[in-house]
Amino acid sequence: MHEPRKLYVKSFGCQMNVYDSHRMADTLAREGFVETQDPAEADLVILNTCHIREKAAEKVYSELGRLRKQKQEAGSDTMIAVAGCVAQAEGAEIMRRAPVVDLVVGPQSYHRLPELLAEARAGKRVVDTEFPAEDKFDHLPAPTRAATRSRGPAAFVTVQEGCDKFCTFCVVPYTRGAEVSRPVAKIMDEAARLVDQGVREISLIGQNVNAFHGAGPDGTSWSLARLMERMAGIKGLARLRYTTSHPRDMDDDLIAAHRDLPQLMPYLHLPVQSGSDRILAAMNRKHGRDDFFAIIEKMRQARPDMALSSDFIVGFPGESEQDFEDTLDLVRKVGFASAYSFKYSPRPGTPAADHAAQVPEEAKAERLAELQRLLEASKAAFDESCRGRTFDILLEKPGRQAGQLIGRSPYLQSVVVNDPPAAIGDLLTVTITDVGPNSLAGIPAEANDTSVSQSPASSALSRPLAAMEA
Ligand code: SAM
Ligand code: SF4
Repeated sequence: MHEPRKLYVKSFGCQMNVYDSHRMADTLAREGFVETQDPAEADLVILNTCHIREKAAEKVYSELGRLRKQKQEAGSDTMIAVAGCVAQAEGAEIMRRAPVVDLVVGPQSYHRLPELLAEARAGKRVVDTEFPAEDKFDHLPAPTRAATRSRGPAAFVTVQEGCDKFCTFCVVPYTRGAEVSRPVAKIMDEAARLVDQGVREISLIGQNVNAFHGAGPDGTSWSLARLMERMAGIKGLARLRYTTSHPRDMDDDLIAAHRDLPQLMPYLHLPVQSGSDRILAAMNRKHGRDDFFAIIEKMRQARPDMALSSDFIVGFPGESEQDFEDTLDLVRKVGFASAYSFKYSPRPGTPAADHAAQVPEEAKAERLAELQRLLEASKAAFDESCRGRTFDILLEKPGRQAGQLIGRSPYLQSVVVNDPPAAIGDLLTVTITDVGPNSLAGIPAEANDTSVSQSPASSALSRPLAAMEA
C-alpha cells in the first residue's frame, strides 16, 4: 500500500479563506491526501492568500522565500501552490517573482485542483485564474465525518461570494468577482449534513453576506432573513451567525430575525469604516453616519442585548483631523464589543489609490494608535460588563491545562472553563468569574441559581444610543 500523501494548507486573511481551505482539503482527500500541520513533511503546500492590504499580499512572498529555503535544504520535491486573492490578482507575477511555485489557482477554480495538480506534476507551471462558467460548489465534495469532527463544532458555510459595491479602497470586487448567491436548497443540504456530523453552530459567510438573494425552493429569490428562518428549523443546530454585512443591506427583516430567532446570536459585525460623512461618500459606501446610528438603534430595540463589532480604516485619502475626530466620536457613541482597524493601504487598480491627497504614513500610524486605544477601552468595558453574567458557552477545544475546555460566548469571546461537566460540542451554562485581556474564565452555573441573567439591563451595549451620547 502507498503511504498517503501529505497536504499542508496555510490560510491568510478572512473566514472565506478558512472555508475555502477546508473545501480544498476535502477535494484533495479524494486524491489520497491527508492533512499535516508540518510544512516540512508535506508533499503539497497550499498558501491560501489575502490581497486586501499590501502587507497581507507581501506576507505571501516572504512565506514563499521560507519554503524555497526549506525545500533547498531538505532537497525535497514538495509541490507549492498559491491560491486565494493574491493568486487571482497577481497570477503571472507570482510565477515570475517566485520560481519555487508550481501552481497558481484562483478562488473560482478550486474544484479543478486535481487536474491542475496533475498538469503541474507533469512538469508544467500552471496558472488558472479563470471565472469558469460551471459552479465550483457543484463540484467541491462535502467533508467526511472525520474531517468535520477535526474542525470542531462551529463551522462556516459560504452562502454568497463576490461584491458589486465597489468601495473605492477595496480589491474584493476585482479578486472575487460579481456578487453571486448560492441556491437555498444547496445551503440547506450542506448545513443539515454538517449538523448531522456534530456541528452545533453555523456561521453563514460572504463578502457581502446580507446582500444574499439565493434562489429559493419556491422559485423566488430569498433574503438572508428567510434563509436563516429555514435554517433555524434544523434539529440540533444551536447557534447561527452571519458575516460580513454591509450597512446598506441591513433591512428590517434581518433586524427582526434577531428578535425572532433564538438561535441567532446577539452579535453583529457591521463594518462602518469611518465616522465622517465626507469620507464615507469618498469611499463610495452609500451610507452616512446617521444611517449607521439608525440601524444600531433598531437593532437594540429588536434585541436589547445586542453587541457590535466593526471595521475601521484610518488615513483614507483626504481624511482631515476633523474627519478622524468624527470616527472617534462614532466609536464613543456606539460602544463596540470588538473591532478591527487598519491603516488605509492603496491597492493597485482601485480608484482611491490614484487619489492625490494621500495621508502621510506618520499621520496614519498616529491615528491608528489613537483609534486602537479607544477601541481597546471599549472592548475592555464590554468584557468587564460580562463579569458575573451567565450565558451558554459552546465548548470548542481543550485548554492549555489538563481538564480545561475553551468555548465561545454568544459574543464570540473565548471562555476558559476548568473541569466542566461537559464535552467538546456541548453548550454549557457558565457564569463569568474572571476577565482577562484575551479571554474570559467562568464556572458552570448552578442549576438552581436564579440570581443570574442572560442580558443585564446595565450592560454598556444595551444602553440606548441617546444615553451613550451624554
Ligand atoms: N465587505 C465588508 C465590508 O463591506 O465592510 C468587508 C470586506 S474586507 C475583506 C474587510 C475589511 O478590510 C474592510 O471592512 C476594510 O476595513 C478593510 N480593508 C479593505 N480594503 C482596505 C484597504 N485598501 N486598506 C485598508 N483596509 C482595507
Ligand atoms: Fe469591499 Fe466590502 Fe466594499 Fe464590497 S462592500 S467593495 S467587499 S469593502
